[in-house]
Amino acid sequence: MRLTDRVALVTGASRGIGRSIALALAREGAAVAVNYRSRHQDARSVVAEIEALGGRAVAVAADVADPAAAARLVARTRTDLGGLHILVNNAGITDDGLIHDLSPDAWLDVMKVNFGGAYHCTSAVTEHFMAERDGAIVNISSVMGERGWIGQSAYAASKGALNALTRSAAVELARFGVRVNAVCAGFTPTELTGPLLDGPSGRAIRRQVPLRSFADPSQIAAVALFLAGPDSGYLTGALVRADGGFAAQLGTGHA
Ligand code: NAP
Repeated sequence: MRLTDRVALVTGASRGIGRSIALALAREGAAVAVNYRSRHQDARSVVAEIEALGGRAVAVAADVADPAAAARLVARTRTDLGGLHILVNNAGITDDGLIHDLSPDAWLDVMKVNFGGAYHCTSAVTEHFMAERDGAIVNISSVMGERGWIGQSAYAASKGALNALTRSAAVELARFGVRVNAVCAGFTPTELTGPLLDGPSGRAIRRQVPLRSFADPSQIAAVALFLAGPDSGYLTGALVRADGGFAAQLGTGHA
């Protein structure tokens, strides 16, 4: 086990990719704070799964878009689990729409959760991480942060901002021994993607992925686990793509 005696906080861990990350960290021995916004029962089941593996976990409700709630979330993790060494900023939402249709509130909400949530949680852990001269922060970003897609201007901009935060935080915190990296995930069927990846639209999108498949959440979690643990000790400021080759290509190569 690579993470024995480590404590991790995973935001948005009640389902989807965050749930897989929480379980992957727990399998390597970390105690895990399972954050969620509203789905208490889902978060409780993740805690129960971790406990069934013999691990330690707590479910903690907090809206990471609220800076005071993010600070309380970090404080609660440290009190309940006796420390904090790994922060995974995974909580995310999308609100897709064409630029001329999307309301200012809609894009701002996406920004407040996807960028603001990561910023607030990072801000809340830095004093402790810097004092300990130890800590790993993993941001769950997206291929959309560096590519364009119709109807995803708000989501893509929020992930572009998260990528910029990853680089700057990495440079700022490196001298304290704190590493900051991101996983730029590709298409992963979850509630966030909804019906987009099903049926004909899903088949059309899958044909554009060089590996010809969508990700399983566990495949994104494996990269997050690597970035959170000792095997990535010389990586900081890295944006690691886990996207089946999607962002590597200029086009599908077919006319
Ligand atoms: P998901 O299944 O919709 O799960 C979202 C999670 O975030 C839930 O646990 C939800 O909690 C939590 N959450 C939402 N808003 C929150 C807030 N304000 N405060 C705290 N928690 C909040 O999404 P997913 O697909 O697993 O996505 C996870 C991350 O991966 C996101 O950052 C997303 O942008 C990124 N990503 C996803 C894909 C993909 O194709 N799925 C691709 C690239 C990147 P509740 O259950 O309580 O609502």
